[in-house]
Amino acid sequence: MILAGVSLKYGRVLLLRPVSSICTFNMSKYRKKHTWDRDQKKLRVLVDMDCVLADFETNFLKRYKEKYPDEPFIPLDKRKGFYLTTQYEKIGVHNDKIYSVINEEGFFLTLPPIAGGIEALKEMSGLPGVDVFLCTSPVINYQFCVKEKYDWVQKYLGKDWVEKLILTRDKTIIHGDLLIDDRPRIKGCEHEPLWRQVLFSACHNKTYKISNEIRLDSWDTNLWLPMILEAQKRKSSEVQ
Ligand SMILES: [Mg+2]
Repeated sequence: MILAGVSLKYGRVLLLRPVSSICTFNMSKYRKKHTWDRDQKKLRVLVDMDCVLADFETNFLKRYKEKYPDEPFIPLDKRKGFYLTTQYEKIGVHNDKIYSVINEEGFFLTLPPIAGGIEALKEMSGLPGVDVFLCTSPVINYQFCVKEKYDWVQKYLGKDWVEKLILTRDKTIIHGDLLIDDRPRIKGCEHEPLWRQVLFSACHNKTYKISNEIRLDSWDTNLWLPMILEAQKRKSSEVQ
């Protein structure tokens, strides 16, 4: 083999291989397909799990207090900022203690469902022209977390929903129209993700000032349904 590499010119990728096996990959065809995927008429909604469907913060506080009854703690109404470790560090609690609770077997499986979330998801996915997927980031110490997320989905939403579960550490590379997520300022490889974020209200983001995001305070049908219908209307006007 003499040449190995890739050169990009005039919208075509030329794979640098020996002359006999030169092949080209048409970038304009790829772009066309990419655009078509994006413009499907169905509204694709991505829904996060922790703090959106599953009550991560309540379960953490309960288990933390049981495990470390003599340590200081932060009540839910005083939680501020996405990372527990950052705020607990300020009151003198070492990160190891926080991780020891989160990484414990059973932690993710025992997260209680957030009020109305399961019903809302089932109803949303039954709307004509709407596709719903779960999009969640497992913790780095995945020993129990990954399996328990699957088990949680099967337990509360049913087996069909296991197929709709997307596990990723980078949500910006997932295609969708809306991402309902409690984490402000989601970052990743894509600087401009295809989805628009809907910030789901959680104890840690209550005081976070939003600029371009839409906020969803709860799974009250009077809140999420008009938001989805509006997004659907906007999308169909963009596609036409
Ligand atoms: Mg979350």
